[in-house]
Amino acid sequence: MKKLIYVCACFSLLAQTQLSAQNATRPRAIKVANEYSTTRKEINIPQIDGYVPLKCDFHIHTMFSDGSVWPTVRVQEAWEEGLDVIAITDHLEYRPHKADHNLSHNRSYELAEDEAKKKNIVLIKGTEVTRNMPPGHFNLLFIKDADKFDQPDFMKVMDEAKAQDAFVLWNHPGWGTDSTRWHDIHETLYKNGLIHGIEVFNELEWYPEALDWVLNKNLTLIGNSDVHGVTNKLYEINEATFRPMTIVLAKDKSESSVREAMFAGRTFIYFFGQVMGKEDLLRKLFENSVTVGLPHYDTKDRSYVEVTNHSDIPVKLRSLSNIKGYPSAIDIPGGKSVLVTIPQKNITSDSPVYEVENYIISPEKHLQIKLF
Ligand SMILES: [Zn+2]
Ligand SMILES: [Zn+2]
Repeated sequence: MKKLIYVCACFSLLAQTQLSAQNATRPRAIKVANEYSTTRKEINIPQIDGYVPLKCDFHIHTMFSDGSVWPTVRVQEAWEEGLDVIAITDHLEYRPHKADHNLSHNRSYELAEDEAKKKNIVLIKGTEVTRNMPPGHFNLLFIKDADKFDQPDFMKVMDEAKAQDAFVLWNHPGWGTDSTRWHDIHETLYKNGLIHGIEVFNELEWYPEALDWVLNKNLTLIGNSDVHGVTNKLYEINEATFRPMTIVLAKDKSESSVREAMFAGRTFIYFFGQVMGKEDLLRKLFENSVTVGLPHYDTKDRSYVEVTNHSDIPVKLRSLSNIKGYPSAIDIPGGKSVLVTIPQKNITSDSPVYEVENYIISPEKHLQIKLF
């Protein structure tokens, strides 16, 4: 019996040795591969006046013009990065890959459409009219048929934009020029209701003159990536960073609500930790984002309070008043609280005006608020 056990043990050892020798030759997977990320980053921004803040990029290229990416990849990128709305806007007049495809100008939209439905991304049909300055480049958004814009006469293209009820966005007005200029043709377009918005932020730069035009002429403020390669190479996107985007304050997440909000001008731009927008809107954004707690501890002359930023957009405050006892600067990262001390209310009734350094309301001005 003992002998049998010994033989069995020897056999089992031999079998194990053979098995581990076999395993050693096999590749060992470190983790299950995912070609794409399976999680979406959420960007927390408070509602304003009951409107939902949708994160949008209205200027994106694919290999159907001068981009290097297949249209469905644009939807995947948008989903991963926390966007709600995108428009693929391939150039009408500039198609360097034409030898490999000479298809309809609607093709990039059609290829992305099903993927957008699966990923709950609102896909806006668009195209980019691409002319030398003046008039420059224009994105036509919410269009029905991009092929109808493929004609040499620029004013006929704009007539067709009107016929299709398009939102006309003047793109990157200062790109590739020495100065950002409002030419006669822009005045003609504006007077005929053929400029609805201006892309004040494009890719990595913004145009102060164009912000003035938006404010003075009551146009819609837009900021986009204008990405041609992959977004996370252009912007080195990680958990804390985002592509530049337009925040549209819409009734709900639908194409018709995005359209209504854009024609109504309810937008602001979020780029690299800064926001840019009309003053009344950014004031409401601040008020809905930042709260000051009641004093939770008092010393002889000071009170301890907590200031909380409920939004993912950081807040950087600098005092303009220099009133004794108040902090001269308060930086609150997105979704965090900071502890500050202020004078007890019976010591001074005056409280400082703070400039919100990363809230831009005009080329020279930042939002000013009273916090305490
Ligand atoms: Zn362009
Ligand atoms: Zn472009």
